[in-house]
Amino acid sequence: MPEEFTVTPWEVKGEIDYDLLMQKFGTSPIDDALLDRLSGYGELHPMLKRGIFYTHRDMLWLLNEYDKGNRFTIYTGRGPSGNTHLGHLMPWMFNKWMQDTFGVNMIFQMTNDEKFLFKDLTLEDTTSMAYQNALDFIALGFDPKKTKIIVNTKNIDKLYPVALSVAKKITFSTAKAVFGFDNSTNIGSIFFTAMQSAPAFLPSVDAGKQVPVVIPCGIDQDPHFRVCRDVAPGLGFPKPSLICCKMMPGLSGGDKMSSSDENATIYTTDTPKQVKKKVGRAFTGGCVSVDEQREKGGNPEVCAVFKYNYFMFEHSDDELNELARKCRNGEILCGECKMCLTQKINVFLEEHQDRREKAKDVIAEMAYDGFEW
Ligand code: SF4
Repeated sequence: MPEEFTVTPWEVKGEIDYDLLMQKFGTSPIDDALLDRLSGYGELHPMLKRGIFYTHRDMLWLLNEYDKGNRFTIYTGRGPSGNTHLGHLMPWMFNKWMQDTFGVNMIFQMTNDEKFLFKDLTLEDTTSMAYQNALDFIALGFDPKKTKIIVNTKNIDKLYPVALSVAKKITFSTAKAVFGFDNSTNIGSIFFTAMQSAPAFLPSVDAGKQVPVVIPCGIDQDPHFRVCRDVAPGLGFPKPSLICCKMMPGLSGGDKMSSSDENATIYTTDTPKQVKKKVGRAFTGGCVSVDEQREKGGNPEVCAVFKYNYFMFEHSDDELNELARKCRNGEILCGECKMCLTQKINVFLEEHQDRREKAKDVIAEMAYDGFEW
């Protein structure tokens, strides 16, 4: 079986076989029965219907607990190493759907310590970026009364005792096997997974009883939470459930939008002109000439412009199918298609940037334990 891809919390490369990845990680598919169950709580999010969120751990248990009145907390986060891009927003939008659908509390963890440890950045850089990234998160409309933002170094008094108890259960050998560390890895990085586990147990610590937690995230984050789930029973906490998505592709056709490819990455702070330029250069499934495309049609399967519609910017299945049909039949050309996507992104960003400014008024209210930003 070819395995020409790598997916870890810190590296995604190659053409990802998501089914194979699910097998390797040992997660379960989101099947029709689970979709049916989820649809009983509200209209399914397009990312569920389209299989973008495609795999999980213990979601049925979580829903059973919810039905019994044991409400869960949602936990997600961000490693603040740069500006927020659309690939970060995509799973956060799904988190918003989860909060709206179930009316539950949410923890958003900013791992400014992680990015300091793993990247060539100062702690001041990553902490200031945490503030900027949090504005993007808040701009999506999370309920300020039910949502708390953790910044690891600022909430260390609460996190550290929990992280310590996690760390005591994880051997260096496990950390090496799961994350690929070796003797040259700094010891902060080796400890870090304990910090990422801690918010999964904080709701139970704060409530003084077992509170279920669900973590909606990219499948690349699963290794952290495998370790977290393994140690949970020994610490007297419920194992967190996971619901995982595929990665938002880059505009250059790669499998994950990444800040290392600036021209193929759309940031939340981009101007309409920058968006137009980036989408204009996007990788498509079109032909080399207009005549050839009119005759043979394009290939939406490989096209980054189509994928952007699929992942985020076209919620109507009918419209999406129509776009695919017109593309295959050569009834639409890439230039027109790119202009439509540019317009959709710019409308979205204009509203987002407005909400991002307003987020500055509520960010203090959302600080976990009331820390000072
Ligand atoms: S017409 Fe649109 S969907 Fe088809 S290949 Fe071109 S950009 Fe992609």
